[in-house]
Amino acid sequence: ATPLSVTIGTGRGARSGVLYRSADALQKAQKVDVIVLDKTGTITVGKPQLTDTATAIGWSRKELLALAASAEGDSEHPLALAIVDGAKAQGLRLPPVLSFSSLTGAGVDALVSLQSSSATSEPAKSRSAEADVDKSSVHDGGEGRQSGVLVGSKALLDERGIDLPAGDDPALMSAQRWAAQGKTTVYVAVDGRFAGVLAVSDKVKPSSAKAIQAFKDRRIAAVMLTGDGAGTAQAVGREVGVERVVSQVRPEDKATIVKALQRQGHTVAMIGDGINDAPALAQADLGMAIGTGTDVAIESADITLVSGDLQSAVTAIDLSGAAMRDIH
Ligand code: ADP
Ligand code: MG
Repeated sequence: ATPLSVTIGTGRGARSGVLYRSADALQKAQKVDVIVLDKTGTITVGKPQLTDTATAIGWSRKELLALAASAEGDSEHPLALAIVDGAKAQGLRLPPVLSFSSLTGAGVDALVSLQSSSATSEPAKSRSAEADVDKSSVHDGGEGRQSGVLVGSKALLDERGIDLPAGDDPALMSAQRWAAQGKTTVYVAVDGRFAGVLAVSDKVKPSSAKAIQAFKDRRIAAVMLTGDGAGTAQAVGREVGVERVVSQVRPEDKATIVKALQRQGHTVAMIGDGINDAPALAQADLGMAIGTGTDVAIESADITLVSGDLQSAVTAIDLSGAAMRDIH
C-alpha cells in the first residue's frame, strides 16, 4: 500500500468506527484467514440477565438465590452482576459475607453469615436436623451460622468433589435444557452440598450472525472460544453460524489456542473485550478489541472496534483490502 492509501484507509476507518493502531494493522487485516471470537461481550451483548432457578431438595428458590447473590457480591464478573441484580429485583435481602475469594474462570467461594436478622429467612432445610450436625457448617457462639457457598461452573463443583444428584434429577434436567437454549448455567453448593442451579441469559448482538456470514463469504473461518460449558457454547454457536466452538476454555488458554492456529500456518485475528482476552489479542496477528470492553483489551489490540458491533470487524478487513490494492 502507498502512504496515501494507508492515510485514506485509516481515515475511512476512523469515520466508520475502526481505529487502526498502526499502518501495519491496516496492512495486515486483509491477510487474515481465521478469526477467533470470544463469546461473552463479543458475540453476545455481555449484559447477562438472571432468568431461572432450580433448587435441590430442601432449598427454596429465594434461599438459593439470596446465598448465591451474597457470595457473588464482591465479584466483578458479568455473571455475578446478573445474579446480584436478579436477587435485588426479587427484593431479597442478602446475608452478609464474611470472606470471599474469586476463582478466575471458575466462580467464587465465600463464607456467608446466616444470622436470621440479616437473611430473608433461616435456610429452612427440610432436613434441618441433618444440617445441624453438618461438620462443615461453622457454629458461631449460637448467635448465627456460617456457610461456605460455592458458585460457578459445573466443572468447579466437580473439582471440589461435590456430588451431583443423578442425571434425572429435576434441577439438573432443567440445567441441561437451559444450556441447550444457549443460557449459561451457574451451579451452587452450600457447605459442600449441591443446592441448585441458576440460569443466566446473554443475548447475541443483532449484528453477530450477519458479520460471521460476511467472514465466511470472504473465506475467513470463525472459531468461538468460551469459558462456558459445551451445551451452552454449541447453542450460541448454532444461533450465530459458528461451527467451530471451543468450550470450557480457561482464560490462560485463549492465547495458546491462537498460537496453535498460527503454527498451523494461519494468519489469525482475535476479537475480544475482556481482561482475560488481552494475552490472546496480543498473540494474534491482528488483535481487535471491542471498544466498549476493558481498557486492558484495547491496549493489547491492533484495532479498536469503537461500537463493539462485529460488522465493523468486517469493515476493518475490507478497508485493508482496498488500501492494499490502492483502491480509493
Ligand atoms: P466467560 O468470559 O466465557 O464467561 P470466564 O473465563 O470468565 O469465561 O469464566 C468461565 C466460566 O466460569 C463461566 O462460564 C462460568 O461458568 C464460570 N464463572 C467464572 N466466574 C464466575 C462467577 N463470578 N460466578 C459464576 N460463575 C463464574
Ligand atoms: Mg468476553
